[in-house]
Amino acid sequence: MLLGTLEAGGTKMVMGLADEDCRILKRESCPTRMPEETLADILDFFRPLGIDALGIATFGPVDLRPGSPGFGSIINTPKLAWRGFPLYSRLREALGVPCAIDTDVNGAALAEARMGAVRGLENCVYFTVGTGIGGGVLSGGRLVHGLIHPEWGHTPISRHPEDPLTRGVCPYHENCAEGLAAGPSMQARWGVPAQELPEGHFAWELEAYYLAQLCITAMMTVSPERIVLGGGVMSHASLYPMVREKANQLLGGYLASPTPEEMDAFIVPPALWPDSGLIGGALLAKDMLKQ
Ligand code: ZN
Repeated sequence: MLLGTLEAGGTKMVMGLADEDCRILKRESCPTRMPEETLADILDFFRPLGIDALGIATFGPVDLRPGSPGFGSIINTPKLAWRGFPLYSRLREALGVPCAIDTDVNGAALAEARMGAVRGLENCVYFTVGTGIGGGVLSGGRLVHGLIHPEWGHTPISRHPEDPLTRGVCPYHENCAEGLAAGPSMQARWGVPAQELPEGHFAWELEAYYLAQLCITAMMTVSPERIVLGGGVMSHASLYPMVREKANQLLGGYLASPTPEEMDAFIVPPALWPDSGLIGGALLAKDMLKQ
């Protein structure tokens, strides 16, 4: 069985070929440009490979309502050229194989639960913190969808009283997680990209404060057994202990579990980074063929 997997991102597309154990055998990437030219590159990769199915883990928002005429289309994205683009149906028609689609973060949550940092558990949340913030949820072993799908990045959070940014950078919201804590907000606040901010800079304390709020919201709503924090901003590894400490403070001892001692094993880095989403796409394809 040969599985195709596409991690569709706002900046780049990563295409992969995987075996039936969802091991990645081959990969390529291309920058995300206008839809038609980007699609041509994606098809050039997959066409000669003879894949049996394709799984797509995509940026969103994306229409995932079963039976919707726009199923698998990108919806309200700030990337205007992609708004309404029928990613799923165009790939399915062009490749002539069964296709599955979900959000990139749901794909990553699935991959970490089956093969990575959450192995053996059925309830987890995967957050990505990079150019945007997104979150995928696995609950009772199933990926959570709904009217659309979870949109963690736009949940309201409390602004830190000493935050020099007077308003988050999200065009829709004054104080949402993405607008206050994704990479572009750090650039707007400090004038340099996140990776240039030194250890000990106040930026990281602010970041931990915001990400801890996101983790607490997840804990109080979907009660995950573990939270995975991935994405480019999390490559600053000292953020993990800071987020855990802030989360313990914000919890105020309310939950019996995780205890402060258990928090180290509760908020964790991805084990499959940077391939969580790509492996997730392969798992989506495999699950669909099994059905
Ligand atoms: Zn927002």
